[in-house]
Formats: sequence, structure tokens, C-alpha cells
Amino acid sequence: MQKPLLLEIKGNSLDDGPGIRSVVFFKGCPLSCTWCHNPESKTIGAEIGFEAGECVGCNTCMNLCPEGALCRDHPFFVDRSLCNLCFACTEACPAGALRRIGKPAEIETIVADVLRDKPFFDTSGGGVTLSGGEPTLFMEYCGQLAQSLKEKGIRILLETCGLFDFTKFETLLYPFLDAIYFDIKLIDPAAHTRYCGVSNGRILENFKELHIRAQNGGVPVLPRTPLIPGITDTEENIRAIADFLVSCGATEARLLPYHPLWQEKNRTIGIAAKEGHSAMNNWLENRTLEACRTILLQAGINL
Ligand code: SF4
Ligand code: SF4
Repeated sequence: MQKPLLLEIKGNSLDDGPGIRSVVFFKGCPLSCTWCHNPESKTIGAEIGFEAGECVGCNTCMNLCPEGALCRDHPFFVDRSLCNLCFACTEACPAGALRRIGKPAEIETIVADVLRDKPFFDTSGGGVTLSGGEPTLFMEYCGQLAQSLKEKGIRILLETCGLFDFTKFETLLYPFLDAIYFDIKLIDPAAHTRYCGVSNGRILENFKELHIRAQNGGVPVLPRTPLIPGITDTEENIRAIADFLVSCGATEARLLPYHPLWQEKNRTIGIAAKEGHSAMNNWLENRTLEACRTILLQAGINL
């Protein structure tokens, strides 16, 4: 069984499903979306992060780094071509400016952690959300985690990019889920490949399969579209999504407004700003959101 690294377990979330939830964020994703709001979740391995604003300039880290990988003249402070990920610096940093991104966790530890909030789940209609990154990269692990949570009476929601092996998913994880939030970003396969790193054929097929099951009493599946300025929020793409959902018989969807704060997160893990995506420097405009809403509502999709 492939064991994942976790970014964090975030308690008291009101944004990742109904009620009060604990969100388990997995590290690693089969997509590589240009606008990813959690860029530290893209790669599967551990990373080092540096928050310049937190650094108090004590030089503890620079004095102990065995590789000489920390340098004030480096644009990201950490020279990742030299760093061996020993994490001596993150352990020693007194300010929390250097941190390890991605830690292993045993299933029993996660269950014990989230179980403390079960009274809040029960009174609010909440539960645990598996998110990321992409939880289905670790299908067996997530299946066992979901089963353990289910046995404790906890409801489970999966947030997914939709790119997974359906047969494995149906066997290992699906039986333990109570709801699925399924991202549909772009309908045009070439655009999907360009902006998300892979084509979308299997994603759309997986949505269709899940929706058929939902219509027949299976796990409810909610399609979601992040509105990325100039990329996914175009009239052409939203109309194509509306047509696709109508062809599946879907009657409900959710739009996720964009924010550009991920660009600062990129810097903390040593990724420079990309050129050619200037529209993504802006927040989503209300009139664009309304235009997208109108297209879907006119197609009979509730939001
Ligand atoms: S993780 Fe280790 S090698 Fe990398 S910067 Fe920190 S101390 Fe240096
Ligand atoms: S140990 Fe932490 S606070 Fe001190 S210089 Fe390094 S990053 Fe900055």
C-alpha cells in the first residue's frame, strides 16, 4: 500500500462540505493546474518551505545546514538544487519560517485526531473531508481510512480532481463515501492539457459513471468549477460545461471564485512566477461570476 504524506489536518472547517468538518489534505496530484491554490500539494514528496516574513534573521539555519543550501542572496533563500531535505533547519528554526511540507501519518493517528471533533460533526451535520492534492492517488490508504472513520459513525466527503482508475475507486473507496465534490475545469481537451497538464477524457467519463450511480441511489456527486480569469471563466467553456452537465442529466453544480493568493505560496516553495498569465493576477470580478451563473441557470443547472 502506498503511504501518503499529509499537508495538514485542518479542523473546524466550514468551507469543505456541509457542517463543521475536519479536512485531511493529502500531498500529491496527477494534475498540474497552472492556478493551483495549494501548490505545495502538487508533488508527492516532502518539500521545504520558507516564509520570508516570519524570519527573524538569527542565522541558526545557515550555521547548521550541512549542504550550504541557505543563502540570503538566493531569490528563494533555499537553494533546492543543494538541499538534501534533512530538515535539520526546519527543526531548529525558532520562528517557524522554515517548515517541512508533507508528513507521514498512520491511519489510527488520523482517526484519533478527528474523533475529538465528532460531537461538532454530529450537531452540525459535518464530518471528515478527504482533500488535497488528490486523495485517490492513495486509493488503498484512503479506503482503509474511510472505512475506519465510517466504523466510528463519521460521514465522509471526497474532494477529487476526477482522474483515477474507476474500477479501483469503486472497489476500494466508493463504498465508504457519503458525498463527492468533483472538479470539472475545462471541457476542451487541448485546453485541459495545456492548463492542467493532462487531458480530460477519463475525468469526464468518471463523472458520467458516478452521476449514473448517484441517480440510482448511489453517493451524491456535485460538480464544481473553479473560475479562473481568462481560462475557465470564458463563455465558451462555461457553456460547454453546462452542455456536458445537461447531457449527463445533472441538475446542480457549484462555482468556485478565484483568488490570486496562491502566487505568494509558490514563492515559499521556490517556484518563480510564470509569465503569460497576467489575468490570473486579478481577483474574479463579480460581473464575470454573474455571467457564468446565468449561463448555468439558463441551462437548468441549480447553483
Ligand atoms: S533541509 Fe537540510 S540541507 Fe536542506 S536547507 Fe535545511 S538543513 Fe540544509
Ligand atoms: S533559523 Fe529561521 S528565523 Fe533564523 S535565519 Fe533561519 S529561517 Fe530565519
